[in-house]
Amino acid sequence: MTRDEVTAFVALGANLGDAERTLRDALAALGGTPGVRLVQASSLYCTAPIESGGPDYINAVAEVATTLTAPRLLQALQAIEQAAGRERPYRNAPRTLDLDLLLYGSASIDSAELTVPHPRMGERAFVLVPLHQIAPGLVTEAMLKAVSKQAIRRL
Ligand code: ADP
Ligand code: MG
Repeated sequence: MTRDEVTAFVALGANLGDAERTLRDALAALGGTPGVRLVQASSLYCTAPIESGGPDYINAVAEVATTLTAPRLLQALQAIEQAAGRERPYRNAPRTLDLDLLLYGSASIDSAELTVPHPRMGERAFVLVPLHQIAPGLVTEAMLKAVSKQAIRRL
């Protein structure tokens, strides 16, 4: 951790095509982004879609150390989403990859394009369980209990 780096946490999710492969490629792309260093990644997890049908989701959370500002980091995440999207089988096919910025150091950000901490992270087992795996200090037992009815399986 150098002096100008900020610790950030990124949630990754995919549920179309080879979702495991998509997530592994996204982790590699994240670590390969200039100004972003992959510190650690959680296991991959499998979760059933909550309010819809379709294939199960594959989820993970990554810790990065970055010299990018939060808006630049979000741009990098969106570029990786778009690169994964290019593999879509047909035009306007559902998105294959979702990357959300959960935390950016201790920053609170509320702009038109970016809200950090991510406003819905506390409602989602697929965020809290992998985040707890790699950063147990950030997720309390009470937070885990609040999402304990959501089925999630470590791959
Ligand atoms: P969701 O992740 O909620 O399913 P999207 O991935 O389509 O939805 O994101 C929609 C918009 O959310 C993005 O254009 C982005 O500007 C905005 N956004 C706000 N805060 C965040 C954040 N913390 N991480 C990622 N996107 C965010
Ligand atoms: Mg998103």
